Amino acid sequence: MTELATQLIHHAYRPPEGFEAVAPGVHKASTVIFPNVHALRTREWKDKSGYTYGLHGTPTTFILEERIATLEGGRFCALVPSGLSAVALVDMAFLRQGDELLIPDNAYGPNKAFAHVELAAWGITHRYYDPQNPADLADKIGPTTRLVWLEAPGSITLEFPDLPALVAVVQQANTARTGARPILTALDNTWGAGIAFNAFQLGADISMQALTKYPSGGADVLMGSVVTRDEALHQQVLMTHMRLGLGVSANDTELVLRGLNTMALRYAAQDVATRGLARWMQGQPGVAKVLHPALAGSPGHAVWQRDAKAAACLFSVVFDSGIAPCQIDAFCDSLRLFKLGWSWAGPISLCAPYDVPSIRTTPWPHAGGLVRFAVGLEAVDDLRADLSQALPALSA
Ligand SMILES: *Cc1c(COP(=O)(O)O)cnc(C)c1O
Repeated sequence: MTELATQLIHHAYRPPEGFEAVAPGVHKASTVIFPNVHALRTREWKDKSGYTYGLHGTPTTFILEERIATLEGGRFCALVPSGLSAVALVDMAFLRQGDELLIPDNAYGPNKAFAHVELAAWGITHRYYDPQNPADLADKIGPTTRLVWLEAPGSITLEFPDLPALVAVVQQANTARTGARPILTALDNTWGAGIAFNAFQLGADISMQALTKYPSGGADVLMGSVVTRDEALHQQVLMTHMRLGLGVSANDTELVLRGLNTMALRYAAQDVATRGLARWMQGQPGVAKVLHPALAGSPGHAVWQRDAKAAACLFSVVFDSGIAPCQIDAFCDSLRLFKLGWSWAGPISLCAPYDVPSIRTTPWPHAGGLVRFAVGLEAVDDLRADLSQALPALSA
C-alpha cells in the first residue's frame, strides 16, 4: 500500500473501544463489511443479532427501533421514511387480492387515498365504518375482511372512539370464522404517541405512528414506525419492509433519537396549553363548538376519560353557520403566531381550515366551517392573544 489514495481509504488506525456518550453514534452505511465469507453467508439481521446491509439496520436504527417499541409498549418495531409509508406498509404486509379493508370514516385522509387508488388497483376493496358506533363496524365486517384500521381520535374532527369495544367486535368476528385468516386491527397511534394510552393494552394488534410528529418534535424530519407485540406479525412486516426496500437515513434517525429525550415533557406541556386554549375558545363569539377529547360534550369524551391519561396538541373549532368560508379564511390569515401548514407537534403553532362534509361519508352534525389548530411550544398567553386579535376577522 504505497499509493496515498489507497492508504487513505484503507487506513490502519482504529480508535479505542469503549466510547460512551449521551447521544448514540450515527452510523452511516449502505455496505456493511464482513470479516470473512462464512460471516457473509451466515449473518442474521432479522433478529438484530448482526449487520448485513444498510437497509437491514445499523446500530443507530436498531437503537431507535428498540426505543420506539418501548414507547409504544410493544416488542418489535420497523422504521419507515414517513408516517404515511407506515400506513402503506401495514396494508401491503397484510392485505392480498380479494381481501377487504375497513377504515374509520374520520381517518387520516391519505390512509383513505392509498386504499382508494393503490389497494383498489390491486383488487383489495375497502369500506368506511363509523368509529363512534361499534355496531356499524360489526355490520361492515364481511367474509373477506382482513384488516381494520383504528384511529384515536379522528384526524380532523377528534372524535375519540371506544377502542376496546371496536376490538371486541373484531375478536367476535374472528371467533365466528374459525379456520380463515383472522382479521387484524391496526391503530394509527400518532395522536396518543405511546404517551396518552397503551395501544396494545386497548387491544390493537399493530400500532403505527408518524414519528414526524411527537417523537421528532422539530417539524424538520419525516419518519414512521410499525410496532407489534407478536413476533410472527413483526416478521411479516419486516419481510414486506425488506422487499419494498424501505430505509431511513442515519441523520433523520439521529434527530428522532434526540427528540425522544424531551418527548414526554413536550407532550405534557403541549397538552396543558392546548386544553387551556380549547376551553378559552369555547366562550368566544362566532364559535359554535370546540372539539377536543378532554372537553365535556366533545364526541367520545367519556371514553377518552376512561382509556387515556393525556391528550395531544390538537383542537378543532366549528364556527357558527352564519360565518362564511371567506371570513374563516380571513381569520386564519389574520393569525400571526399560528402559521398555516400541515403536520403538528412541532415548536410552531399551526392551523388549517377544512371542509368536513367533503372528507367523510357519515353525517356531520354541524353547518359551520372548521379550523384545526395544532398548539406548538410558544407561551400560551401569547397564543391566546394571537387568537383574540384575529377573532374580529370572523365578523368583518
Ligand atoms: C401526520 C400523520 C400521518 C402521516 O405522517 P407523515 O410522516 O406526514 O407521512 C399519519 N397519521 C396521522 C394521524 C398523522 O397525523
